[in-house]
Amino acid sequence: MTPFDAVLFDLDDTLFAQSTWLEGAWQKVANAAEPLGVPVAELRRALTEIAAEGTAKGGIIDRALIEVDRPHVAIAPLVEAFRSHEPTALPTYPGAADLLGNLQGRVALGLITDGDPRIQRSKLQAVGLAGYFDVVVFSDELGREFRKPHAAPFHLALERLGVEAGAAAYVGDNPVKDVAGARSVGMTTVRVRTGEYRDVDGELPADLEVGDLLALIPELDRLLNAPDTIRPR
Ligand SMILES: [Mg+2]
Repeated sequence: MTPFDAVLFDLDDTLFAQSTWLEGAWQKVANAAEPLGVPVAELRRALTEIAAEGTAKGGIIDRALIEVDRPHVAIAPLVEAFRSHEPTALPTYPGAADLLGNLQGRVALGLITDGDPRIQRSKLQAVGLAGYFDVVVFSDELGREFRKPHAAPFHLALERLGVEAGAAAYVGDNPVKDVAGARSVGMTTVRVRTGEYRDVDGELPADLEVGDLLALIPELDRLLNAPDTIRPR
């Protein structure tokens, strides 16, 4: 029997590159702005550049409109264009399906993701991994104030899985939301160095850190069968 009963995952920049979704979303926003008299290519460039400064800051569409000198353009249709960007397929990071397939049947699998649930649900469908997860928690359904690193979405996912935090590992890319968040509830933390935060160091390192999902696959047996080698308990 494995010492872990469950492995839970983050979605964006952990299982797939958020930038691939964003590229399409910015194109859609720019297209929606064209009939409002906004130059499409300029707006798309501004959206991409501002988002590259950090997607967590928000107000990206407002700031991009200022950047292209169209501060008075109505934002509601552009926000709706963003929210309704629902690509039918998104590429996962290499190894994502192999990793989940390897874990399936050995442990319960969960996913906890922040952000607009409509968008997050659509992303999960588009990456084609939804079927692997026994439990999916969209933290915004509890309220935006309960986004990770808040303990509530972690507790909810564990409760739905019927698993104690000490018997669960959490895999994510963000040193604060994922690593600090999962650690605060007592889960073992695994960090993948992918996506927007790949070069950002956390206050405390994760229990196990890998470059990407492919590098996690050969670590799985050690993680599942000998967690003490990952994290002294
Ligand atoms: Mg993430």
